[in-house]
Amino acid sequence: MPSGRSMQHIGLGRDLHRLVPGRRFLLAGVELPNEKGELGHSDADVLAHAVIDALLGAAGIGDIGELFPDTEPAFKDTASMPLLRKAFERVKSHGWRVVNLDCVVTCETPKLLPYRETIRAALADALETDAVMVKGKTNEGLDAIGKGDAVEALAICLLEKL
Ligand SMILES: [Zn+2]
Repeated sequence: MPSGRSMQHIGLGRDLHRLVPGRRFLLAGVELPNEKGELGHSDADVLAHAVIDALLGAAGIGDIGELFPDTEPAFKDTASMPLLRKAFERVKSHGWRVVNLDCVVTCETPKLLPYRETIRAALADALETDAVMVKGKTNEGLDAIGKGDAVEALAICLLEKL
């Protein structure tokens, strides 16, 4: 690599959680009011998990299951945003910074729009860049997501190393 040139790597993350009554609905640590919330070993924050995998994938240093195994009792009901910050510390220690992050969250309810900027800002703060986008979609009543029984998140992230 010629000196002075930067290297860029892209990473993709995807996650899905079931939605059940009696659980919180969290996106990047932001709680949205909804009849159902995400089921999982940790707090099941679907967006935080997808972003962690996008970061780790771009840096080429494994995945969320390796870093934070869901068989580990310490991660039971644990908040996922501190895990995202930990993953980002790991990514930074390899010399990377985030160029930008783009995300899509698909669920039938709740509507993301009123919370979108808060969610976006939470991710921007954690990743030390303002170049973050979050979009909300529905599945038009089709499949488990469309029936309100699941939520899916996709994240794509570009990293740069000088
Ligand atoms: Zn997850």
